[in-house]
Amino acid sequence: MTFADLGLSDELLRSVADSGYGEPTPIQRAAIPPVLMGKDLIGIAQTGTGKTASFVLPMLDILHQGRSRARMPRSLILEPTRELAQQVSENFDKYGKYHPLSMALLIGGVQMGDQVKALEKGVDVLIATPGRLMDLFQRGKILLTGCELLVIDEADRMLDMGFIPDIEEICSKLPKSRQTLLFSATMPPPIQKLAQKFLNDPKRVEVARPATANVNIEQRLVEVRGDKKKDALRDILRHEEFRNAIIFSNRKTTVRELATSLKRSGFSVGQIQGDMDQSDRIAEFDRFKEGDINILVASDVAARGLDVKGVSHVVNFDVPWQPDDYVHRIGRTGRAGMTGIAITLATREDAEAVQRIEKLIGHKIPRAGTPAKEPEAQPAPAPKAEANAKPKTPSRAKKPKAVEHAPKVEPIEQAAPPPERSPVVEDMEGDWNGPLPSFLSVSAV
Ligand code: AMP
Repeated sequence: MTFADLGLSDELLRSVADSGYGEPTPIQRAAIPPVLMGKDLIGIAQTGTGKTASFVLPMLDILHQGRSRARMPRSLILEPTRELAQQVSENFDKYGKYHPLSMALLIGGVQMGDQVKALEKGVDVLIATPGRLMDLFQRGKILLTGCELLVIDEADRMLDMGFIPDIEEICSKLPKSRQTLLFSATMPPPIQKLAQKFLNDPKRVEVARPATANVNIEQRLVEVRGDKKKDALRDILRHEEFRNAIIFSNRKTTVRELATSLKRSGFSVGQIQGDMDQSDRIAEFDRFKEGDINILVASDVAARGLDVKGVSHVVNFDVPWQPDDYVHRIGRTGRAGMTGIAITLATREDAEAVQRIEKLIGHKIPRAGTPAKEPEAQPAPAPKAEANAKPKTPSRAKKPKAVEHAPKVEPIEQAAPPPERSPVVEDMEGDWNGPLPSFLSVSAV
């Protein structure tokens, strides 16, 4: 099947061809025709499946007819994070270059003034995070009564982030006769309920990939004492032949602290975490993408869905609380057919979280390094690995320096673990660089 078979306009076929896409992905094949016909849709798919184009492309054609009115957006896309909202807006720029629509991005962390000005002029597409949208709505700056198309993207992530009440409120302010599209990687009961309440006879489309599908990622687990984690990390960064790495931590404070500490040790480091301004996050991300820095310390929220090609290493400084976050994190490497290495530092207290991850991915993560039970143990020796890119010989000394300050052990916040999610098809985010991977399947119910 080609894009031309999907019923898209010539303008869109041109921009799709310019993007270099040979054929539609399974979610695009299954979702675009019913969306063009005005049907509601539940798309069970994660980032990396081409799902953004599966709603952006038909929206461009649907909204091409008609005019926008001041403060009354014609369509609304809800995204859980600023980065995802930003990426969706970039998709509108890319695919809409031959028949552009007016668009506004409503996200926290940036000045409200320009966003309000854009809204006042009238927009065809409003892309928003729920918090900022509610804020502007309550200030009377926006009316949702003219919104005929709603997209709720990454619904299960919205649930994790506590946005469902906001989404329910937003839905109740939209006209009942609208078209609604809901995308989610998993369908836990609260999302099913949301869909039942706010979607009208939806077409259900599912794209599934097994969690272990990405054979390009070599996974390692380094067992280490909590107070030796920073040493172990420095060892990995010094000894591994790596080009660049994203280091994940569970907490914003750890992200900040780690970035400072690694900088002091002579590494070329940036950070992205939820407390930073959007412009700072983008600047840091761009520095990493451009190669000005080769290490990015990140929190899950800030890093979700980021699409960087050629990341050779992912290091989990903390074992993620949610097993599917593990899969998302390691999916930052091994993209676009390249190989990558994912190393997780785990303390004895992480045993349960590791077990949950291994249950989800369906296999044990190979162990490397020092057993956690040996108190006198040195930091884990760096595992030998084959990086995906040409190794850059680090100019820094190979021998680890002495720790500059007393190592801190970070207490793991056990008190309020996030809710368990259904153990479903959760998986790597990938790209296509040619033919579709054969493990992608689609079922339309
Ligand atoms: P998404 O799931 O929307 O985050 O998309 C993941 C990646 O797939 C992005 O880098 C897109 O540019 C790319 N992509 C989307 N559709 C196609 C397609 N039909 N063929 C090849 N790549 C695609």
